[in-house]
Amino acid sequence: MRTFTIGGIHPPECKLTAGKSIVDMPLPKQAVVLLGQHIGAPTQAVVEKGAMVKTGQLLAKAGGFVSANIHSPVSGKVNKIAEVVDASGYPRPAIFIDVEGDEWMEGIDRSEDLISECDLEPAAIVQKINEAGIVGMGGACFPAHVKLTPPPGKKAEILVVNGVECEPYLTADHRLMLEKAPEIIVGIRILMKALNVDKAVIGIECNKPDAIELLQHIAKPYPAIEVMPLQMHYPQGGEKQLIEATTGRQVPSGCLPIEVGAVVQNVGTIFAIYEAVQKNKPLFERIVTVTGKSLSNAGNFRVRMGTPIKELLDFAGGLPENAGKVISGGPMMGKALASLDAPVAKGTSGVLVMDEADSKRGQASDCIRCAKCVAACPMGLEPYLLGALSEHKDWEGAEKQHMMDCIECGCCTFTCPANRPLLDYLRIGKAKVGALIRSRKQ
Ligand code: SF4
Ligand code: SF4
Repeated sequence: MRTFTIGGIHPPECKLTAGKSIVDMPLPKQAVVLLGQHIGAPTQAVVEKGAMVKTGQLLAKAGGFVSANIHSPVSGKVNKIAEVVDASGYPRPAIFIDVEGDEWMEGIDRSEDLISECDLEPAAIVQKINEAGIVGMGGACFPAHVKLTPPPGKKAEILVVNGVECEPYLTADHRLMLEKAPEIIVGIRILMKALNVDKAVIGIECNKPDAIELLQHIAKPYPAIEVMPLQMHYPQGGEKQLIEATTGRQVPSGCLPIEVGAVVQNVGTIFAIYEAVQKNKPLFERIVTVTGKSLSNAGNFRVRMGTPIKELLDFAGGLPENAGKVISGGPMMGKALASLDAPVAKGTSGVLVMDEADSKRGQASDCIRCAKCVAACPMGLEPYLLGALSEHKDWEGAEKQHMMDCIECGCCTFTCPANRPLLDYLRIGKAKVGALIRSRKQ
């Protein structure tokens, strides 16, 4: 079975909610809709305090080409536009909406009917995706329409669909593949038309045999779509790792997937694209795995954006007494929440409650130069060195050692016997090196 060739690890799976069907989460009393839920230029609010809004109505316009519209996840009254602490711990502007009923914008098709055919021209498909505010829902939050618009001189040859979900604990994509497989296949056909490619491959790790079998069955009439079982190997959901695993092509350092003719989209994003193009539905809700060994009602929930994470935890049985940390995302790449008031955003794939015992970090000691982190790094970096450069604030040195290639997968931290907080050093370092690079362009 195929996989990528450099580094990687095999963390324990802990997919506690894999058998839990998707359940609709009740609407929050107040939705807190972040004005920035994507990579790129910030949005500009188009509603004011006191305005009445409907579900699906435009709340904030994209601030440029690399940006994404924000739509209301609820109906009700705009209470205020103010700051809230987001899942990364930073204060961010948000629109607070007091929920009244659930009145949707006209024109959104709320039926469960499958619409298989799409007569739109490629440019019109991309336009609809752009208007619907769709971003990469695997966590990267890169605006989807940008990936569908290759730069001059570049041509997409293959659509790579990410159904890997290699993060331990997370099962939202797995459930979506089981419960919305026909819609995902239609979404893939729409994207192939938009990109003018005649091949798509869906990469799924072999711990999801039911999803592999179902998608193979539904994709059977479309020989251009291949469902490819992959070895379990973290971080295979990384774009560069998945492209290599499925196509054998290696994306060079500092380059984007389009350099090797690939465009990658996650299955959650593809389902959102189906809903946008075929159902006129903007992106205002998503599937979130809420999980943890001590949660009494862990599950996969369909959640409106803007729902405070505290309400998700209440719905999942309440915060257990032995909770040590609450993480937005999975245990490898997720971030510990500074506040449970942080709202669900387009990139929130999961909320994980870790027990006190599991969340304790071992005492860090000096590097023993074992090179385990080097062997584990899927980007071929030297994490011990990058960690040291970051610790000593040598940002130019870190840049020379390709710090910006780090995909923040956490493999180095996971393997380090000296408990070095390598990922923390790398995240700080990437922010500093990124700022340095940007300052040179000004
Ligand atoms: S976090 Fe960065 S440096 Fe560490 S293993 Fe992943 S890619 Fe390599
Ligand atoms: S794994 Fe840890 S101890 Fe070993 S070389 Fe890397 S940083 Fe040093």
